Amino acid sequence: MSYGNVIVGAQGKQPLVSFGVISDVQYADIPDGRSFLGVPRYYRHSLLVLQRAVRSWNEKKVNFVINFGDIIDGFCPKEKSLSATEKVVGEFSNFCGDVYHMIGNHCLYNLPREKLLPLLSIDGHAYYDFSPVPEVRFVVLDGYDISAIGWPEDHPNRLKAIDILKENNPNVDKNSPEGLVGPPRRFVQFNGAVGEEQMEWLDCVLQDATKSNQRVVVCSHLPLDPRATSFAALLWNYEEVMEVVHRYSCVKVCLAGHTHRDGYVMDSRGVHHRVLAAALECPPGSDAFGSVDIFDDSLFVSGTDRMGDQEMVFN
Ligand SMILES: [Zn+2]
Repeated sequence: MSYGNVIVGAQGKQPLVSFGVISDVQYADIPDGRSFLGVPRYYRHSLLVLQRAVRSWNEKKVNFVINFGDIIDGFCPKEKSLSATEKVVGEFSNFCGDVYHMIGNHCLYNLPREKLLPLLSIDGHAYYDFSPVPEVRFVVLDGYDISAIGWPEDHPNRLKAIDILKENNPNVDKNSPEGLVGPPRRFVQFNGAVGEEQMEWLDCVLQDATKSNQRVVVCSHLPLDPRATSFAALLWNYEEVMEVVHRYSCVKVCLAGHTHRDGYVMDSRGVHHRVLAAALECPPGSDAFGSVDIFDDSLFVSGTDRMGDQEMVFN
């Protein structure tokens, strides 16, 4: 899939920063299977996709890598959760530079937060920001801040999530969006929300980025615009997050995973929303990873196979 034939223009310039992207590796040492909707999943091959991605990022000498979450699959046998996670993190560590991870639902099916975060070198909150060059800031959201998965049984964030699901999803199986229509289909257990404290933090970061005249890229496992994804993959409180984002004009692009297919929309305020295809669903020999160049006035995704190229010109 391609979003425009603009490769020549974008690549003729020197980027401010370049980084590698991959999403939904969902590795497990189990035979191939299918999603709930019947889409083939290649649990072992996805590790080979990651290996080829790392090789490509090293060859291209990108500055760092962002992993959009779900590095191991929920079907990974639980006694192998730790070793499988270490195996995937080990592959990422073959990249000659920093790797920024975010957590996904599948990671949390395997390991509780307190075990998962240190493995992903995430210290403290699973939301954070970084600025690789003065002109650009990355904001990584934790979409499982309010979530029924990953927290201890009696954790207030888990209890809050259970209340949200009870209020918005009448199904006994809270992983099922059956009967829900449109964006309300997002109220399923495999999604979550950004909590209040994180929302305040986001506001502060964007305020600071505005003062510093930075271009901001928001990264999230869960997509933030219903037109770029299937409704059942959206962040529960995407509207609240976008309300904060739209207070400022510094956010140029929102990148996400979780949906497994490429998706794109530019919202009414000119913010680009791009969802990245999953490594898990690449038939043997094919790939889904990319490298991204950020310029003064645009961002360019160079995708491989199932991940499409795209130029996004800043508003
Ligand atoms: Zn996911």
